[in-house]
Amino acid sequence: MKHLLIVISLLTLIVSCSSKNKKKSATLPGTKAQQKAPKKMLSPKSPNKLTTHWSYEGLFGPELWGNLSPEYAACKNGKSQSPINLIWRKPNEKRTLQFKYMDEPLTTSDTGHSVKVHFASQQLASISSSIYSLQQLHFHSPSEHTISGKHYPAEIHFVHKNSSGAIAVIAVMISQGNSNPHLDTILKSIPSQKNKINSTKLKLNPGQLLPPIMTHYSYKGSLTTPPCTEGVLWSILNTPITASAQQIKKLKSFYKTNNRPVQRLHGRTSTNY
Ligand SMILES: [Zn+2]
Repeated sequence: MKHLLIVISLLTLIVSCSSKNKKKSATLPGTKAQQKAPKKMLSPKSPNKLTTHWSYEGLFGPELWGNLSPEYAACKNGKSQSPINLIWRKPNEKRTLQFKYMDEPLTTSDTGHSVKVHFASQQLASISSSIYSLQQLHFHSPSEHTISGKHYPAEIHFVHKNSSGAIAVIAVMISQGNSNPHLDTILKSIPSQKNKINSTKLKLNPGQLLPPIMTHYSYKGSLTTPPCTEGVLWSILNTPITASAQQIKKLKSFYKTNNRPVQRLHGRTSTNY
């Protein structure tokens, strides 16, 4: 009986949380704000607006994502989930990542789960003989992937898509050290209101956030947020970039903890290039 009561109250909480979310999205089309300034609004495709509420702790936290919605089943049942722990071995094969990144007006948002930079230009990357286009980059703190069991203070995900819709993410670790002026520009432009897009005239070349050495780990995994979709090609650069203690503090002021814990390998191995 006691268990039944707990299950019922849990269900009520989940339903009320997701219906609250749906209500929010239902009011979006045709609102005055959207008619006046469509560029300031997130596209209706934004996962925050149309999907069941989830978070990084408590009843909606990572351990329970798979139970929150049938659409999130892969978070629980998937056998190639991300992030994972990585072990560095000397590469015995060379495969370079190549970038054709360029300056673009800086466009940022706070999605409610992370701070994000949006890209509209053809920002191209060649990964494993396929050409991908950069869609967005966002930050996790602390890092999601661990290297030999160790977290970095933060991790940047450069999310790419190719012409067949396949997703490839390049991850860059941030360690504490010298201040990064480009990171400063990004952090200062994040809108204070969630789910609003700030389109600035400042220029950002995403390559400014890459380290000089391209050696990396490669493995097949998933999105690290619901719906935890699998088939994502991950490339994690083993050379971090640096940010000052103050910049890391500023980044953490948006989200102190927005990392999914490392997932089981289920027989997967990563390759070092
Ligand atoms: Zn991410």
